[in-house]
Amino acid sequence: MFPAPFDYYRAHSVDDAVQALARFGDDARILAGGQSLIPAMRFRLARPSVLVDINAIDELAYVRESDGHLAVGAGTRDFALETAPLIAQRYLLLADTSALVADPVVRQMGTVVGSLCHNDPAGDWPVTALAARAQVSIRTPGGATRTVAIDDFVVDSYTTAVGTGEMAVEVRFPTPGTRTSGSYQKIERKVGDFAAEKLLAGAKPSKDLIRAAMREAEKIADPSPDNRGSVEYKKAMAGVLVGRAIAGALERLGVGGLK
Ligand SMILES: Cc1cc2nc3c(=O)[nH]c(=O)nc-3n(C[C@H](O)[C@H](O)[C@H](O)COP(=O)(O)OP(=O)(O)OC[C@H]3O[C@@H](n4cnc5c(N)ncnc54)[C@H](O)[C@@H]3O)c2cc1C
Repeated sequence: MFPAPFDYYRAHSVDDAVQALARFGDDARILAGGQSLIPAMRFRLARPSVLVDINAIDELAYVRESDGHLAVGAGTRDFALETAPLIAQRYLLLADTSALVADPVVRQMGTVVGSLCHNDPAGDWPVTALAARAQVSIRTPGGATRTVAIDDFVVDSYTTAVGTGEMAVEVRFPTPGTRTSGSYQKIERKVGDFAAEKLLAGAKPSKDLIRAAMREAEKIADPSPDNRGSVEYKKAMAGVLVGRAIAGALERLGVGGLK
């Protein structure tokens, strides 16, 4: 299908984009990589009157480490993280995620911040950002920048703290400490939201603990049945993935020989 008619504006700076959003009104939408927005428009699930394209804003495409965090600009594609040596060395959770989103063609265009703003419950970046305690910076129509913790940024499925006329400009991931690691595991698509976090916080790693976390994940996962598998299968896989993720993160920290 073809999208409904829309106008197009190419922004050349963040201020230009935010001013354009204000000028064009509530139905204007930011166009980043277009990997979610364009398909939604083609299926007429989204009908923006104007697309404000941020792809020509070169200064938004960056990955910078400073002051205890990694800043990823709103123009940064998944592929840039997947191939950055810094990410492969120090940000293993992000390295895992960037290599597991969709396929290489989508990753060449899709942006990390765009995925957070889309906030598909099956999306990979929102989950990783939640686990990593990320923060998102948002430019307001008045030109100020506010920073929101990811827990507050993610409001509901497909809904975020980005308000009308606002634009997300950066996501910040805390730099992992020497005793911090992570691992992102996935079978095709994420099957549900499972957080066995309370059980693990402050606990001594052991095989029993991993098994308990797996059981907890199976218990609280609430997937829907579809052509990718039954509820029973997805719940079982939630447990398996949690087990693999914890074991993978511990292995990266050199914690082996668990009892
Ligand atoms: C074939 C295919 C397979 C895919 N598989 C996966 C997958 O396995 N895992 C996964 O996580 N995703 C998957 N995706 C989605 C893909 O990762 C998208 O790239 C991503 O969800 C959105 O990023 P984008 O830069 O393309 O955003 P766009 O599509 O340009 O925008 C998405 C939404 O966010 C808004 N937006 C974007 N940037 C900003 C901003 N800076 N400020 C405010 N609003 C903004 C847009 O207005 C729009 O509403 C897939 C997509 C395709 C086409």
